[in-house]
Amino acid sequence: MNALDRGAPARLATYQNLIGETWQSAQSGKTLPMVEPSTGAVFAHIAASGKADIDLAVKAARHAFDEGAWGKLAAFERGRLLMKLAQAILDNGEELANLEARDCGKPMKQARADVTATARYFEFYGGAADKLHGETIPYLTGMTVIGLREPLGVTAHIVPWNYPMQIFGRSVGGSLAAGNACVVKPAEDACLSLVRIAQFALDVGFPPGALNLVTGTGEEAGAALTAHPEIDFISFTGSPEVGAMVQRAAADNHVGVTLELGGKSPQIVFADADLDAVLPFAVNAIVQNAGQTCSACSRLLVEKPIYDRFMDRLAGLFSALRVGTHEADLDCGPLISARQKGRVENFLGEADAAKLPVLARGNIVEGTPDTGFFVPPTLIGNVPPDMRLAREEIFGPVLSAIPFSEESEALRLANSTDYGLVAALWTRDGGRQLRMARALRCGQVFVNGFGAGGGIELPFGGVKKSGHGREKGFEALYEFTQLKTIVLKHG
Ligand code: NAD
Repeated sequence: MNALDRGAPARLATYQNLIGETWQSAQSGKTLPMVEPSTGAVFAHIAASGKADIDLAVKAARHAFDEGAWGKLAAFERGRLLMKLAQAILDNGEELANLEARDCGKPMKQARADVTATARYFEFYGGAADKLHGETIPYLTGMTVIGLREPLGVTAHIVPWNYPMQIFGRSVGGSLAAGNACVVKPAEDACLSLVRIAQFALDVGFPPGALNLVTGTGEEAGAALTAHPEIDFISFTGSPEVGAMVQRAAADNHVGVTLELGGKSPQIVFADADLDAVLPFAVNAIVQNAGQTCSACSRLLVEKPIYDRFMDRLAGLFSALRVGTHEADLDCGPLISARQKGRVENFLGEADAAKLPVLARGNIVEGTPDTGFFVPPTLIGNVPPDMRLAREEIFGPVLSAIPFSEESEALRLANSTDYGLVAALWTRDGGRQLRMARALRCGQVFVNGFGAGGGIELPFGGVKKSGHGREKGFEALYEFTQLKTIVLKHG
């Protein structure tokens, strides 16, 4: 069998599940349509999997870990396989970028950047696989104590639709490097690139069952995976509501979980900042991936003496933004679905109802299909901090600007939402840089720069409703392992 069954419903490609080393349709035979956000048209189908498929995948992973070739590989051999997978991703980069762009609606240049980042995850964790050391602990005379870092076993990975490849790389890369066997349930809205990457993993020689991929809805396949009694850990990225359900499922099985649940992250601009440097970051941090980024900076806090001047310049940049299909490859593409578009338009309706100043809107270019899910980037001024626009994750290209008077107010506003994922701080004052960076309640702070979510090497995760646990960097390897203490008496 092949990942891609071309004799599919309506003659569109149907993508299958990878279980062990076998590509297979859902046990029920059901499929789900995949919709192209740029046009609203169905362009492929995926397996609509359920409990039975998840059970097979978990058993395949369990076997790979407990008895199969995967569990027996030396750390450096796992690392080599991860490196080979990184190379396969780069070698097939254009195919993957095309698939990701079409599936998610993101402009081609963003999808190409996602390919590079995904390969970097496998390079980083490939290099780290044999460098994850344990420790010895000084104890009583005549005794040696070893702290042995062991894999957890079978890890479950629930991946969202906004960055399928990148979040797959971030979640699975560390887990495989640590020696776990993985079962991945990607999002039903966008996941085709992952089916291809799973094939590349087989091609480069991953033993059967090390990596299993099962598509389907969250309610059926996702819930079945997170509740499965034979998994040992869950890595989840998505909404806070589903994150809470996943955590409950983890509690029932007494397993650990990392939750990455998005944010309402602030850019904080003080009057002494280098405004030329801030402007492109303030735009990109909300327009990248049409604002559907967990670490998007969707709040802009600006010190009052520069507020009008800065907002004028920013409005100029927003007005020049061009929106179009993934193929047009402009500044911004469509949102993922009609539902997501409706959700963002609701927020914009609240701005209208409150008569808030819309300072600028980008332009949907001529010839863009009106069946696509497009919303122009929108800059809203003087947003009252207690409005939903200033507090809730919109997950669209909408930037809410809020003026502030002094450092203490900026800090209070920045920390005033239920979220705490990242923050960007723009000031030349060294004391303020460290004071603020330490007092901000979030997982990452960028000072005089911004890189949504940070590099592969940088631990990433949130506090409060943004979740808990850390992914990326070496920190993820600690999340995906457990420490066993061995006490030897030798006299
Ligand atoms: P979601 O949380 O419903 O979906 C994320 C993943 O969880 C998908 O793979 C989905 O199939 C799965 N899932 C859904 N229900 C499940 C369940 N009961 N058990 C296990 N898995 C389940 O997110 P969404 O509906 O796609 O988007 C809604 C909102 O979530 C967005 O508007 C945005 O605010 C937020 N979101 C955040 C991120 C992020 O990167 N933090 C990503 C996507 C969405």
